[in-house]
Amino acid sequence: MTVLMEVNDLKVAYGKIEAVKGISFTVETGQIVCLVGTNGAGKTTTLRTLSGLIKPRGGTITFDGQPLGTVPAHKIVSLGLAHSPEGRHIFPRLTIAENLQLGAFLRNDKEGIEKDIQRAYELFPILGERRKQAAGTLSGGEQQMLAMGRALMSRPKLLMLDEPSMGLSPLMMHKIMSTIAELKAQGMTILLVEQNAQAALSLADQAHVMEIGKIVLSGTGQELLHNEDVRKAYLGED
Ligand code: ATP
Repeated sequence: MTVLMEVNDLKVAYGKIEAVKGISFTVETGQIVCLVGTNGAGKTTTLRTLSGLIKPRGGTITFDGQPLGTVPAHKIVSLGLAHSPEGRHIFPRLTIAENLQLGAFLRNDKEGIEKDIQRAYELFPILGERRKQAAGTLSGGEQQMLAMGRALMSRPKLLMLDEPSMGLSPLMMHKIMSTIAELKAQGMTILLVEQNAQAALSLADQAHVMEIGKIVLSGTGQELLHNEDVRKAYLGED
């Protein structure tokens, strides 16, 4: 196994608010690594820092052998790190096809881009059926599919997904989770942030529980799924 990303003692603050207080974890090639935890634990802040959208206060991030701490966000995308953000942030007035093309903004291999758009349609057939429609007409779950498809358009080595199941029906959530499993089966490496701990831990090779800016528990997905404290705190058991 090769380590694709190594996060060491990462600290992030908004002014005086320390949102991430020195966390360390690694992501190995081909793994699904999951960060779970309640609202405000610092999961989104962590992903935004790894993508270069926020500068860390301390610690190091190494991705594919390169230090990332001060690398600008667009450069990080070109190194192979893609981020499907919380809330999706698709462009509602643009068509589905145009949204996907935007995900390839750093590429100029027209043929390859077209091929990858077709692959996104294979992964999510509904996007292909509605390719000429404005993205704003899609349901929440379909918009999540589009956000994932768009992130894949940069041909990432590591795909970071922030709360992909947020606000979705159980059926749609199941579809999104099985797509994540399918991407892993195709060889993709995934860093997943989820509040739906049950679904996320079931998929995760490695998982970390975050509480107020710290990692308080780590293990395999199965270990955490069967951990009594995790079950009480995150899986709604007494
Ligand atoms: P959620 O699931 O709600 O996104 P989270 O685990 O992703 O939760 P973060 O959004 O990373 O948590 O927030 C971590 C902490 O940082 C919280 O205390 C939050 O209030 C604070 N925070 C987040 N964004 C900002 C900001 N732009 N300015 C100031 N404080 C912020």
